Amino acid sequence: MTIETLPGVEAIPPTAEEIAAGRRAHELDRAHVFHSWSAQDTLNPMTILKAAGSEVWDGEGRKFIDLSSQLVNTNIGHQHPRVVAAIHAQAGKLCTVAPQHVNDARSEAARLITELAPEGLNHVFFTNGGADANEHAIRMARLHTGRRKVFSAYRSYHGGTDLAINVTGDPRRVPNDTGDAGVVHFLPAYLYRSYFGSTTEAEETARALKHLEDMIVLEGAANVAAVILESVPGTAGIYAPPAGYLEGVRELTRKHGIMFIADEVMAGFGRTGEWFAFDRWGVTPDLVTFAKGVNSGYVPLGGVVISDDIFDTFRQRVYPGGLTYSGHPLACAAAVATIETMRDERMVENARRLGEEIIRPALEAFREKHPSVGDVRGSGAFWAIELVRDRETREPLAAYGGSSPEMNAVIAEIKAGGVLPFANFNRIHVVPALNIPDELLREALAVIDRALDVADAAV
Ligand code: PLP
Repeated sequence: MTIETLPGVEAIPPTAEEIAAGRRAHELDRAHVFHSWSAQDTLNPMTILKAAGSEVWDGEGRKFIDLSSQLVNTNIGHQHPRVVAAIHAQAGKLCTVAPQHVNDARSEAARLITELAPEGLNHVFFTNGGADANEHAIRMARLHTGRRKVFSAYRSYHGGTDLAINVTGDPRRVPNDTGDAGVVHFLPAYLYRSYFGSTTEAEETARALKHLEDMIVLEGAANVAAVILESVPGTAGIYAPPAGYLEGVRELTRKHGIMFIADEVMAGFGRTGEWFAFDRWGVTPDLVTFAKGVNSGYVPLGGVVISDDIFDTFRQRVYPGGLTYSGHPLACAAAVATIETMRDERMVENARRLGEEIIRPALEAFREKHPSVGDVRGSGAFWAIELVRDRETREPLAAYGGSSPEMNAVIAEIKAGGVLPFANFNRIHVVPALNIPDELLREALAVIDRALDVADAAV
């Protein structure tokens, strides 16, 4: 079978039979599937029958432009033939293997990932996704330092498992907060809603760094194992740190012997227009966690890239942790094909171009035209539009942690225009695949432009 003749990679709309099967799937879903982060009776989930590139078809055969990349993971789009072919090939050879054995797909994935990582990070511990990657990174930092406390920013997301949700700093933590996870939250550098009253990047950087160091010292630096930070916070609002902030965090963690964990689960693998988001500031963390974009989510995969120093700790000492599916061959084969394809098709460079040539000008025009647009920000294929009721007070169009009829109306309008958005609280995120065709991206942005008229009515 050649790549071209593989089933499942052509942009063919669903047939009548597939639509009928999709309706049955929807009934079964409502009868038997328990959905994440939801009150089950309030849901009417959208069926997705098939997809190709940046387009998906819903249960009734309607086509949508996928501006969400699902949960910001399909960085190379849906059904990329090279990745589908690699999964087929691996499945034909070896579908699963225990982590204690050597596997060629896993070895090659580790080589490619460490090649992309900063110098001095040469080993990968594979996980099934982002939350467990963060859990293991924290465990490694604790064992390496012999310390327990973990510092994490408010307005962050690090995953839904027990420790990861405790580390998280967004409202989803609150109902899950066990209070005993050894986590201390600090205020992030977020200029648009500065907790420090800053009006410039320089002020925000200086004040946020002083706040973090004060807190570390007050908590007892000798008790702090790690600071975990999303290099560019994603779900929490795609707010890149102001100039100097990440470098400052690196400096002060080094000064106090604290491990710096960069969570690149959403921002990594090209999303920001760099392979890793921290590359923009030339920062080298001690541990880097990844998932999503590493193989575009075609098969679940995550992991931790580990500094040589931390690796040395476990040369003679047992690392007490593991997962049955660590370095799963199907997932790793998908990662190898994804990374090679991204390189060959220059997708990271393309993300940068899309960001600067198409998304930035469009979003800046929205800010000029629509009074409901409070802030627009981002880079690469990673952008947020923050909607407000009042530009002066910056009152959000939906409360942090909540929704509002107005936000719901904007989202409904975007969907009615044939675009699948990623929306969170008072924000619309523009997070397409890194290889979305220019004309589809322009079409999707035009739909958002029209939907913002709905938001304007609330101002
Ligand atoms: N870290 C970040 C920054 C994320 O955005 C996410 C998921 O959205 C996670 C961790 C958790 O990843 P997963 O859902 O694969 O466990």
